[in-house]
Amino acid sequence: MKNITVIGSGTMGNGIAHLFAQQGFAVSLVDLSPEQLSMALTTISKNMDRQVTKGTLSESQKMSALQRIQTHTDLAMAVVQADLVVEAATENLEIKLELFRQLDQLAPATAVLASNTSSISITQIAAVTKRPAQVIGMHFMNPVPVMKLVEVIQGYATSAETTSQIMQLALQLDKVAVEVQDYPGFVANRILMPMINEAIYTLYEGVAGVSEIDTVMKLGMAHPMGPLQLADFIGLDVCLSILSVLQEGFGNPKYAPCPLLRTMVAAGFKGVKTGEGFYCYPAGTKDFTVSSRFSK
Ligand code: NAD
Repeated sequence: MKNITVIGSGTMGNGIAHLFAQQGFAVSLVDLSPEQLSMALTTISKNMDRQVTKGTLSESQKMSALQRIQTHTDLAMAVVQADLVVEAATENLEIKLELFRQLDQLAPATAVLASNTSSISITQIAAVTKRPAQVIGMHFMNPVPVMKLVEVIQGYATSAETTSQIMQLALQLDKVAVEVQDYPGFVANRILMPMINEAIYTLYEGVAGVSEIDTVMKLGMAHPMGPLQLADFIGLDVCLSILSVLQEGFGNPKYAPCPLLRTMVAAGFKGVKTGEGFYCYPAGTKDFTVSSRFSK
């Protein structure tokens, strides 16, 4: 695999493009608008600068990696030479089904079509294509260039050959890949999201404040980040979508998203990406404080 097309250049898509380009692959990065793509390139460049400062990437490696990324708003142009497509568009079933219908028609017959979905069924996505054996889940963690894990999700019809290709590719990317079966939330989010939801319920019911809840989990359980900060980092809209998939997929009310999470997403307070969630993230600084809505 040499040519990789990444669909969606948001939080995950820009990280996935960064990773593949840094590892020497030719990357076509696709999004709906040139403005979004230009923001993504700026983010990738800034994140690479951080690696240069740390000494893990040289300035010339950074420049070569950036040159390997081409941006597109035209899907057909972006996939014409793809060996692998990694879809990282918005976590929405209809958007993903429509994208995979189009990708199946536009990408070379030999291309593998992967989704970075956090929770949507790979089997269901594969079923809208004529190549379900070549459709697979490739679930990277955020931030992609830093986090070691890739969950590799086998849909009902995914072939052993496709799985082995993707497991090998993950090794080439210097990641640790874990094979899992296609059930709602796979492994990572089936375990993580109920914990985040419970943290939000704990806040909602007034058991403790934002920083108290996060401190308990950081110092008590040795988590590097508290669950409310992590929810902000993932995106509260993404957390809500995943919990809704778990609730619907298992038909179990224990996954019902906390009303506070629904309200915050409806109000547009989605965490880091919108500048405010449980915490406030002032632009241009790494400092953040508990949102005044939750301070005592
Ligand atoms: P995001 O909202 O930051 O970015 C999504 C991008 O997709 C946006 O730039 C949007 O313009 C673009 N997009 C939407 N429809 C498109 C289309 N038809 N064609 C091209 N681009 C399109 O979302 P994100 O957090 O990067 O999540 C992307 C995917 O990765 C989701 O499936 C999500 O579940 C998954 N994921 C997210 C995280 C996380 O921590 N945020 C972690 C692992 C997996």
